[in-house]
Amino acid sequence: MSALHEKGVAGLAKALAAREVSAVETAQHFLARMKAHQDIAAFVAVDEDATLAQARAADAALAAGNAPALAGVPVAHKDIFVTTAFPTTAGSKILAGYQSPFDATVVRKLADAGMVSLGKLSCDEFAMGSANENVAVPAVGARQATPVRNPWDPARIPGGSSGGSAAAVAARLAPAATGTDTGGSIRQPASFCGVTGIKPTYGRASRYGMVAFASSLDQAGPMARSAEDCALLLSAMCGPDPDRDSTSLDRPAEDFTRDLNGSLEGLRIGVPKEFLGEGVAPGVRAAVDAALKEYEKLGAKRVEVSLPRTELSIPVYYICAAAEASSNLSRFDGVKFGHRAAQYKDLADMYAKTREEGFGDEVKRRIMIGTYVLSHGYYDAYYLQAQKVRRMIADDFQNAFKDCDLIAGPAAPTVAWKIGEHGDDPVADYLADIFTLPGSLAGLPGMSVPAGFDAGLPVGLQLIGNYFAEAKLLNAAHRFQQATDWHARVPQGY
Ligand code: GLN
Repeated sequence: MSALHEKGVAGLAKALAAREVSAVETAQHFLARMKAHQDIAAFVAVDEDATLAQARAADAALAAGNAPALAGVPVAHKDIFVTTAFPTTAGSKILAGYQSPFDATVVRKLADAGMVSLGKLSCDEFAMGSANENVAVPAVGARQATPVRNPWDPARIPGGSSGGSAAAVAARLAPAATGTDTGGSIRQPASFCGVTGIKPTYGRASRYGMVAFASSLDQAGPMARSAEDCALLLSAMCGPDPDRDSTSLDRPAEDFTRDLNGSLEGLRIGVPKEFLGEGVAPGVRAAVDAALKEYEKLGAKRVEVSLPRTELSIPVYYICAAAEASSNLSRFDGVKFGHRAAQYKDLADMYAKTREEGFGDEVKRRIMIGTYVLSHGYYDAYYLQAQKVRRMIADDFQNAFKDCDLIAGPAAPTVAWKIGEHGDDPVADYLADIFTLPGSLAGLPGMSVPAGFDAGLPVGLQLIGNYFAEAKLLNAAHRFQQATDWHARVPQGY
């Protein structure tokens, strides 16, 4: 029997259901791996007792014969989801010591499906970042906050903001993880770490209990090794949550595994010409081209489409997301939860000192930008204008979907860069989001699928579908993974 960490979600679910291995043994195996690989700084909270209690409950259900589909399969959560079993920091000092009294809906749904939680995964502070370098809380076993390391090369970033999730899955420290994607934070780290990740249509998964960054964009999704494993998690995560998230859509949960093996004969894959232009590293372009050839072998047709406002998605996103963040983050004022400054003169001073001490530079930068673009006199020029262009970006996709069924291109223009390489230049990070932002602004589902390597570092193929086309995306990804083995490659030492 292959080692437990070599099995994915589907393989573990099968072994557990057949009682070849117990949920407790499985949890212990992954907890031990996590301890042995603390150097990649993927986990920020673990609690063996809490994990083993969940595993024992799964074993009891398995013994009783009434276990749900994913009973005993481990999962780890991005530390942006609130959890009762572990503390929640959202990567920020301002939430140090915060213990949520409830579970996020997505966390609860995966627990209802029988999954056992291994702990919390590092992320950029309030999910703001592209490199996991903006994390302000120490990883398990570390004294100081450290960026997550990419298992393919520890000198490099894993991508962000779900960097801990991507690194943990790549290093086989967890068979699957949750992530959130506001402007690319599932797809880009999945691409940089060689794992599979899907962000569903905006509104498919409840945002309840997901620490808010930009509410009109934030969306939860799974990260795992294969499209099949992602489909298993996504089926459990989605569904309406009318009492708790008014933006969750009134669409019943679906079985996203249903079309995995569907034929790709005649599928029209649109490649936006703006996605393969200058600025895309030659090695990335070569991998994407090779993946598209593979799709042609599977019966798909490559067609050229255009998303003419691709470049505008960067200013539009960094206006809209910052505006919403400035409003969402006003709740962190030292009164209700988290950090409070020890010394202050009066109430206003308490707010100011608490926020000065609690927030990191990138968060402060976004609050300033957001407050500025929403302020009287600049609202029309920036925020309103950005909203109008956002709508045009969404329309461009509908135009493109007249000629194709799915859109494909790189998830990011390059592979993972070196830790510290972008130095104090936040704009360098922003520019790297160019291919994930358009789909986010339009609220479309998108995924990243391992599609090769550039100088030993993983390249992700991004697939974007029209609204509610998750099953079609997963079908396309699964068929590709049946024909290739990029997703099965393991970084050395893991
Ligand atoms: N990199 C983008 C940002 O910094 C996206 C982050 C995300 O999707 N959470 O905002």
